[in-house]
Amino acid sequence: MQDYRHTKIIATIGPATQSPEKLAALIEAGVDVMRLNMAHGTPEWVLEIVARIRSVSKSIHRHVAVMMDVKGPEIRTGAVDDPIELKAGDELVLFTDECSNQSALESDGTPRVSVNYPGLPGAIDLDSTILVDSGLLHWHVLAKDATTIRCRVITPGVLESRRHINLPGIQVNLPAITDKDKTDLIAGIEAGIDFVALSFVRQAEDVETLREFLDQHDSHARIISKIEDQAGVRNMEAIIRQSDAIMVARGDLGIEIDYHRLPLVQTELIRACQVEGKPVIIATHLLESMIHSPVPTRAEVSDVCNAIREQADAVMLSGETTTGKYPLESVGVLQNIIGSIEPTVSRQLNSKIVLREPKSKMLRSSAILAQELGESGIVVFTRSGFLAYVLGALRPRGVPIFAFTDIEHTFHHLLLPWGVEPFLMDFSEDHDETISNALEILKEKGWCKPGMWLGVITNALADEKIVDTLQLREVQ
Ligand code: PEP
Repeated sequence: MQDYRHTKIIATIGPATQSPEKLAALIEAGVDVMRLNMAHGTPEWVLEIVARIRSVSKSIHRHVAVMMDVKGPEIRTGAVDDPIELKAGDELVLFTDECSNQSALESDGTPRVSVNYPGLPGAIDLDSTILVDSGLLHWHVLAKDATTIRCRVITPGVLESRRHINLPGIQVNLPAITDKDKTDLIAGIEAGIDFVALSFVRQAEDVETLREFLDQHDSHARIISKIEDQAGVRNMEAIIRQSDAIMVARGDLGIEIDYHRLPLVQTELIRACQVEGKPVIIATHLLESMIHSPVPTRAEVSDVCNAIREQADAVMLSGETTTGKYPLESVGVLQNIIGSIEPTVSRQLNSKIVLREPKSKMLRSSAILAQELGESGIVVFTRSGFLAYVLGALRPRGVPIFAFTDIEHTFHHLLLPWGVEPFLMDFSEDHDETISNALEILKEKGWCKPGMWLGVITNALADEKIVDTLQLREVQ
């Protein structure tokens, strides 16, 4: 049988990887989903890069899904003419009023910097701390009025243009999808993206807003909610139920909550996703040192190993593959860690999952059957992808889930969930012929050999009624 892994790999595309050659190399190295980070991308780039990804993937006969990660409701400082060097004890003024004095200095010489959120002075308290540039710069709030905030620098550092501001614990009153997000989404939908990752999801209604937007624009893209602040953590159950998948966005989450609680929240999110049977992605800083170094640190290896033991569906690279010096090596390191750790994880099925439909209970029987058969697999035919998503969520370790669909966007959606190997194939009117064709494809591709027994889930027509069946088939 072919070598396979259950855990999927996501790579963010950027200057280091966007050439056709580098994209091909990433796909060949085993990337399942390519992420476009719209904090840095434009609609024109999206149209060009998605077309390039599709053409490269076609030419090398290996498929990848495309995820657009929208920028979302971020608070940022404005442009500065030159980077501002800030020493501990220095003061600076943030202003929100676009029409006010635009000069770079107050009359007493204090630097002035704009911020894109007019509600900021009202949202923060005196004596609170503003975290800037991924938590690197800490500023203490000394005074404020309706449009300005005077701060004292606590941690020294250089402020460059458009740095991200985090306000841990503060409810930000910005829309779930900004105007930039809408423009980017329209380009993404035109280009045919498979997933949208929604940043800073604070409540289930944010997911609904995006779903309505996607429906209005006839998009089949599935929604991945990024949990990256305290409101997202607080409302995780409702958000997970409303979403198609979840991303543990540890870059921002590690700033928005106490850093020492991050592993606990990661575990909590993975468990909550396992209850609902929704895919979960572990993102950011997995192999951060590999941006500059060809080998990971021991701590990074342990972190990836932990994500695999906790049974995340996918692990995601960011800086490692956007600007890093070793993008392919980073994917290779993930492959090696997955290869070493997966065979050591317990073969128990996911016992937390709540299976609400009788059909889902049949899927659990198929997983038990295939695991008991030993060298086996589960063949499933699906149009919406639902059956394969539930099978993946059951975590039948040691048996691949061969998911056949005749719908191209469903085929791409099936590249994300744990353990699923998707195939695109025309279905015949005759169910038995469809099964035989699928088994032939598996044999041709080296996934099974004559004499092997596979669990096959399909629906068949019996007395004018569709019945769902679980069969045991010997490969001829
Ligand atoms: C994160 O914060 O971990 C993340 C994935 O989001 P972004 O890269 O958009 O900050």
